[in-house]
Amino acid sequence: MDRSMFVMRTVLLAASQNRWLRDRVPRYRFARRTVRRFMPGERSEDALGAAQALRAHGIGAVFTHLGENISEAPEAVRATDGYIALLDQIQRRGLDSEVSVKLTQLGLDLSSAQCYANLKRIIQHAGPKSTVWIDMEASPYVDITLELYRRARTVFPNVGVCLQAYLYRTAHDIAALMPLGPAIRLVKGAYQESPDVAYPEKKDVDAHFFALTCRLLGEPARRAGVRTAIATHDRELIRRITEFTASAGVAKDEYEFQMLYGIQRPELVRLKRDGYRARILIAYGAYWFPWFMRRLAERPANVWLAVRNLI
Ligand SMILES: Cc1cc2nc3c(=O)[nH]c(=O)nc-3n(C[C@H](O)[C@H](O)[C@H](O)COP(=O)(O)OP(=O)(O)OC[C@H]3O[C@@H](n4cnc5c(N)ncnc54)[C@H](O)[C@@H]3O)c2cc1C
Repeated sequence: MDRSMFVMRTVLLAASQNRWLRDRVPRYRFARRTVRRFMPGERSEDALGAAQALRAHGIGAVFTHLGENISEAPEAVRATDGYIALLDQIQRRGLDSEVSVKLTQLGLDLSSAQCYANLKRIIQHAGPKSTVWIDMEASPYVDITLELYRRARTVFPNVGVCLQAYLYRTAHDIAALMPLGPAIRLVKGAYQESPDVAYPEKKDVDAHFFALTCRLLGEPARRAGVRTAIATHDRELIRRITEFTASAGVAKDEYEFQMLYGIQRPELVRLKRDGYRARILIAYGAYWFPWFMRRLAERPANVWLAVRNLI
C-alpha cells in the first residue's frame, strides 16, 4: 500500500471511532446518499426487499443490523428482539437468509453472561437449519468472541464465527476450533490493528488468506465437518481459490462465497452461475457511521464518491 493510501486508511479508521463525527455525519444528506451504495436502506424492510430481489439469481442473504459497543443493557435486549423479529420475517417470506451479529451489540462490553444469553435467544429462534454468524470485531475481542462461540457451538449446530486473515493467530484459532466442526467465515479484517498482532502489508494478508483457505477446504477440515464461507471481493484471490479447489477435488457446492451488498455484485453472480454457492451480506439500521467508515477505509477511492455527493 502506498503512503497516501495508508494515511487515508488510518484517518478513516480513526474517524470510525470518533463519537462527535458519529453523532453528526449521518445528519448530512451527502453522507446518507453515499452510504446508499453499501446498504439498500435503514429499515429491515429495505434489507428484506433487497434479499427478495437476489432470489432471481439464486443468491442467498445474510442480514446484519448495524450497531456496536452499546453501553446500556436494554439496548442489547432491543437489538436481540430486533433479530428475533427479523428471523420471523425471513421465515414468513421463505427467504434463504441468515443473520450475522456483533457481540458488542449484544452487550459484550457490559457482561459476557448477558451477551451470551442474548446470543442464545437468537440462535434458538433461528432453528437448527439457519446459521447465526458471529462477526469478528477488533483484536481485543477475539479471545472472548471465540470463547462464547465455542460455548454456543458445543450446544447448537447452527452457529458460525468470522475469522480474520490479517491476524497472525488465525491459523492457530482454526486448528483449535477444528474438533467442533465449526462454520467459519474467513475475511481479511477491517479494523486498525498493530503490527504486533496483524500483518501490516496487503500482500502478506492475501497470502495468509489463501493459506488459511487451503486449510479450511482441505481433506481433514472437510472430514471434521467444517462449513467454510470465503468472504472477499478480491477477484485474484477468488481465482486462486477456485483453481485450488478444482485441483484438490473440492466440489463447488462444498463451500460458499460471501460478499457485501453493493460491492463486486457481477463477480458473485458469475460465481453462482458457475455452480458455487453465494450470499450477500446486507446491512440495515440507523447506526451506520463506524461501519460506513470501515467501507471507505477498505477502498479510499470511495471517499471521492462522498465528495461528489457533497458537491
Ligand atoms: C460477508 C462479509 C462479512 C464480513 N465480516 C467481517 C467481520 O466480521 N469482521 C471484519 O473484520 N471484517 C469483515 N468483513 C470485511 C473484510 O474484513 C474486508 O475488510 C473487506 O471484505 C474488504 O476486503 P476484501 O477481501 O474484499 O479485499 P480487498 O483487497 O480489500 O478488496 C479487493 C477488491 O474488492 C473491492 N472492494 C473491497 N472493498 C471495497 C469497498 N469497501 N468498496 C468498494 N470496493 C471494494 C475493490 O475492487 C478491491 O480492489 C466482511 C466482509 C464480507 C464480504
